[in-house]
Amino acid sequence: MKLDQFPESVRPHLIPTPGGNLVYHCLACQTEYDIASLLYTCPNCGAVLLINDRDKDRLKAVSGETWQQILDYRRMLKIPALKGIYRYHEFIGPVLPLESVVYLGEGHTPVVEANPVLQKSVGMRFFYKNDGQNPSASFKDRGMASALSYIRFLIQRGVVDEVLSVCASTGDTSAAAALYAAYLAPHIKSAVLLPHQKVTPQQLSQPLGSGATVFEIPGVFDDCMKVVESLSDTYNVALLNSKNAWRILGQESFSYEIAQDFDYTMADKVVVVPIGNAGNITAVMNGFLKFFEVGIIDTLPKIIGVQSEHANPVYQYYSQPQENRTFVPMTVKPSVAQAAMIGNPVSMPRVIHLVDRYTEVAGTPKVFFVQVTEQAIMDWQLTANRNGHIACTHGGESLAGLVSALEKRYVRSDETAIVDSTAHALKFSGFQDMYFQNTFPEAFGVHPDPDLVNRPLYVHPPRTQSGSAARKTT
Ligand SMILES: *Cc1c(COP(=O)(O)O)cnc(C)c1O
Ligand SMILES: [Zn+2]
Repeated sequence: MKLDQFPESVRPHLIPTPGGNLVYHCLACQTEYDIASLLYTCPNCGAVLLINDRDKDRLKAVSGETWQQILDYRRMLKIPALKGIYRYHEFIGPVLPLESVVYLGEGHTPVVEANPVLQKSVGMRFFYKNDGQNPSASFKDRGMASALSYIRFLIQRGVVDEVLSVCASTGDTSAAAALYAAYLAPHIKSAVLLPHQKVTPQQLSQPLGSGATVFEIPGVFDDCMKVVESLSDTYNVALLNSKNAWRILGQESFSYEIAQDFDYTMADKVVVVPIGNAGNITAVMNGFLKFFEVGIIDTLPKIIGVQSEHANPVYQYYSQPQENRTFVPMTVKPSVAQAAMIGNPVSMPRVIHLVDRYTEVAGTPKVFFVQVTEQAIMDWQLTANRNGHIACTHGGESLAGLVSALEKRYVRSDETAIVDSTAHALKFSGFQDMYFQNTFPEAFGVHPDPDLVNRPLYVHPPRTQSGSAARKTT
């Protein structure tokens, strides 16, 4: 469809132009900073930042209903910059001209309804949102598309020339960072820091394949994070962890897509996400709040944040009585939800801030936290995939979390859930192998359910060459 064929009411808004007034906002001391330079923490007090739009009124000047039409009609455009997360340009990166947008095919991931068998065993209607179908096979691409589009904007304006990007990672951040940085060659060189043997071989192959410099250090993610934090404090590097508030903006697209895919009806919806460094749940809450404030949705959906018992600092925080909660970082134990194996989440202050806001705006508690066992994560992942899904272990964690939220009555069986499978099953197939071959190290505490175990059957038809050479194995 050509521009002049769209309804007149949406035509002026259809192709976004740069606007808005973005500032970094410190959640602790409330100071605001110009976005002209890359900031990760407050220069005044050291707390984490979020990016705010001081000119929200221009968004509210358009009615919620018109916004719905604008976003729906934008779906029909053939402009690459508007095919990914920047369909929501005004809410993600309004200051960017479309020529700065990096689009590698991220966003608009499928929402797949669970089959009747699986819905029956879980006990309610639900959909998986397959964020493993992003370019580097995890949701991290959403945030990278945003962060790297902003860096490209700075390059195009001559503010920066040669950029060294760095990140610490449980695997998927580095895969996404290396991919998007590689696209901006030769302006960006990327270095990633991984905990040795704590990322899967598939995840390790990704930054290597994209040409990043890969450093491995002993320890866990939290150790890597300390190193890159000190690097980004001392040197002029672009930090691509979710501490970078531009990442959060891009990841808000997950909420915008859910709103749009369910026709902006959020009243009976429940969104389930796993929590690691807590950037994702931060973005999901912020995204729904922004759409609500502008009137694009008229109800906030429930949000369930899920953690493994082996890495559950956020769950533990919210298990304490509300009056005197204190956050205590923890030492993590091995988890199949390995990308979420984080004991000291960088975004914890953002979570605390946004849960309070979400509750205040909703007028009732709508964000809940549950913990699940390693066993439940594996069992639900395998069960989901035996019913036609491609959930990763974190997708299993989310589903186990939904079951737990139903038991705890945070969720009713007549509601509809959207369950985040944050990465593709293939990235974490090693854990499936351990389950099928019963080789889980004791520390995981996972024991295979024989009904879920599957193995290849070796057959040797007599007339095939390999068949005649093969020996009987059973
Ligand atoms: C990063 C990641 C998570 C955790 O997300 P946070 O934003 O760190 O809370 C969960 N699942 C997968 C597959 C991830 O890559
Ligand atoms: Zn501050």
